[in-house]
Amino acid sequence: MLILKVFDYKRKLMYNIIEILRTYSLKDISIATLSSHSALQILKGAKDEGLRTILICDEKRFSFYSQFTNLVDKFIIIKSFNEIENVVPRLIKENTIFVPHGSAVEYIGLDTFLNLKLPIFGNRYLIKWESNQRLKMKLLRESGIPIPREYSFNENFNSLVIVKLSGAKGGKFFFISSSSTEVREKIQEYLSKGIIKDVNDVIIQEYVIGVPMYFHYFYSPILNRLEILGIDIRYETNVDGLRRLPIEYAKNIKPSFIVVGNIPVVIREKMLTKVYEYGVNFVNKFKEIEPPGVIGPFSLESIVVNDETIVVFEFSGRIVAGTNIYVGMGSPYSWFYWNEPMYMGKRIAREIKLATEHGLDMLCKVIT
Ligand code: ATP
Repeated sequence: MLILKVFDYKRKLMYNIIEILRTYSLKDISIATLSSHSALQILKGAKDEGLRTILICDEKRFSFYSQFTNLVDKFIIIKSFNEIENVVPRLIKENTIFVPHGSAVEYIGLDTFLNLKLPIFGNRYLIKWESNQRLKMKLLRESGIPIPREYSFNENFNSLVIVKLSGAKGGKFFFISSSSTEVREKIQEYLSKGIIKDVNDVIIQEYVIGVPMYFHYFYSPILNRLEILGIDIRYETNVDGLRRLPIEYAKNIKPSFIVVGNIPVVIREKMLTKVYEYGVNFVNKFKEIEPPGVIGPFSLESIVVNDETIVVFEFSGRIVAGTNIYVGMGSPYSWFYWNEPMYMGKRIAREIKLATEHGLDMLCKVIT
């Protein structure tokens, strides 16, 4: 019964979105995003493709973003991003398609985001799966992608684990430990400090040793193909800083995993087939679970253990900040598909442009 209600609600929302799209002039579409994360490349990509751009900017970031009048046709300034619903009518008047990024859901809030009566590029429900650690791992598992072993709160272990909090927090409050007692104590501390509400808000996962690589994919419903557009390695403090210290100094410092930057990488070509296979499995499984399935960018965030084994510890169901390194020049992989400097922001805009050129039915394939 509940499933039917949810299905009904989603259908009604999609119906509303299509009604909104019917009012749009497809020759005059605007791309809008929020002032954070990968906004600049989303805007630049839209401009490169000849689309109009709107930046929804909070007051405190305006002085920085206001420099980029070459990228932004219109600024909509709001006090706080959770007021976004108030500006939806203005966005609709401008024929807007909203492009979400990693900070969008953090700032807007998942419920508001899922219920926005505004055409969103991509499948908004993939972000719901991304936002919950358990759903996230379930989707990867069901896609047949190797994932790290998971431990429950009451389980005893003495191998190395990483304890992670839900949501895109960029590694904040994560810790590693090889003692189940220490893990339980720390989780209790998080509960008492209100950092988490429930023990289920954390995930206790095997710590996989290897090279972290983040694979950037784009699934195109218009061209009906999956593209690998790039790979990055995240630079995280202080776990990456620690290796610069001699072991006698480093050994007493607790590693932390706060992302502060990204660096480009290419993987050995023989492993690319596996990377592709994981992407295809992910796309196929999600189509079964949440039609219409994956639309546009997503990332599988992995540890390359050796030249045979890649373990995926999480995914992102939208553009990731690691794609920022390829803006303007493209990645070695994007050149193979496009023979031009294609990067994720531009790829998103290209998909929207291709869709609008084919009419409303096609545009409906790339938005929810
Ligand atoms: P974001 O949402 O910004 O991607 P997050 O808060 O969801 O970040 P994760 O990406 O899951 O966090 O993890 C942050 C970092 O912790 C990773 O980049 C990686 O260095 C490390 N990490 C996470 N899980 C594992 C694991 N199972 N084994 C080894 N390292 C891990």
